[in-house]
Amino acid sequence: MLKIDGSQLIKEFDVEEAISSIGKDIEISACVHKVRKMSEFAFVILRTGRYLIQTIYSPDNCSDTLEDVKEGCYVKVVGTVKEDDRAYNGIEILLKSIKVIAKMNNDYPLHVSHKKLGCSLDVNLDMRSVALRNPYERAIFKFQEGVCNGFREFMLKNDFTEIHTPKIVAQGAEGGANIFHIEYFDKPAFLNQSPQFYKQTAVAFFDRVFEIAPVYRAEKHSTSRHINEYISLDFEMGYIDSMYDVMNMETALLKYIVSYLEENYQPEIKILDAKLPVIDKIPALTLLEAKEVLGDKASKNKLDLEPEDEVNLCEYAKKEFNSEFIFVTHFPSSKPPFYAMNDKKDPRLACKFDLLFRGLEITSGGQRIHDYDEQIAKLQSMGLDPEDFKYYLEAHKYGLPPHGGLGIGLERLVMKLLNLSNIRQTSMFPRDINRLTP
Ligand code: ATP
Repeated sequence: MLKIDGSQLIKEFDVEEAISSIGKDIEISACVHKVRKMSEFAFVILRTGRYLIQTIYSPDNCSDTLEDVKEGCYVKVVGTVKEDDRAYNGIEILLKSIKVIAKMNNDYPLHVSHKKLGCSLDVNLDMRSVALRNPYERAIFKFQEGVCNGFREFMLKNDFTEIHTPKIVAQGAEGGANIFHIEYFDKPAFLNQSPQFYKQTAVAFFDRVFEIAPVYRAEKHSTSRHINEYISLDFEMGYIDSMYDVMNMETALLKYIVSYLEENYQPEIKILDAKLPVIDKIPALTLLEAKEVLGDKASKNKLDLEPEDEVNLCEYAKKEFNSEFIFVTHFPSSKPPFYAMNDKKDPRLACKFDLLFRGLEITSGGQRIHDYDEQIAKLQSMGLDPEDFKYYLEAHKYGLPPHGGLGIGLERLVMKLLNLSNIRQTSMFPRDINRLTP
């Protein structure tokens, strides 16, 4: 009888292990990335889940032929590991056998084995299942994994609890028109724009919480910085003295993510030629100060930052403070979000901040209202009916500690870390006003 106890699980090919196996035989299952036939031998480049490996086929050493070995088929090979400085990762494998375990049915319609695909973004996105086999394209998402892992590791080390909140909701967290309406049996419902209500609620019982999850925004425009479903890196923390505690936490978090990437994602940093930022102190200006330093260059909108302000403020921060990041604080309290605490010194302003990085807003955060009466009053001052927020307000009603938090758009952060020009490049299967497939 066949017994399955899990002990036979095959490990993903590990370059470190291969390097330490020089002179020994190893077995690898992988995809054939490229075949380059020379007169006496052939290079067969294999693509594992993360690496490219150079193997050498010669009819004298190998028990199989290359007849069925085509770019794109999947193989199982056995070979001897050899050191070679010129090859990927400094090793090459002299093939003893190469067996096709899954053949390919069609030639790739894109240049998967080229350094970069060299096609338009639309073609790339239309043919995602092929495009992501290209080592450059897929490295973007491995790198993205690193950003999430760094975020999670930092949060857990700092006593935040990971939570999972609903995405189908009865009430949007951010309001406005950019919300998706859905049918929930016989009731109207929405796709959540942010985990805001739930993460604030969870502060009452976990003190500090975080979530990595999709959020939905019905953006009716097509820009290089908006998609309709993105991953939000959210945290919310209790017992703060001011929003500056949240900003300090974000600075430490970003430093951690960068060093985590440097330590664990060198292969991707190399492929993507990523220039990671050096983060020391991040400068902070109020919105008013920001508009003042921009002078004539400031946009006409006095109440918010426009994209050109974001670009110009980042240039200013680089020049004045040698920082690629800049915080902007104290936005008008008459504007959303309704959960932002008003500044006690000047209630016309809210304790809210944005973080800009390399010319783009990547974070919104702030101190939230924890007092029930204060929250009711602010809802009413904005013309909103507290009855519509009954369940959210239960958290306030039964008590919340002073708290604050933020949301970072994962795709925007990755886009800027990699100096890419369009957010769709950092979303594996992006959703925008014109795209619902693949
Ligand atoms: P913008 O003004 O650039 O449209 P926003 O002020 O609507 O952004 P927030 O609601 O403050 O954004 O969301 C917090 C963070 O979520 C932003 O700083 C950004 O990183 C990300 N984000 C917001 N909307 C989108 C979107 N449509 N696509 C991708 N990321 C987004």
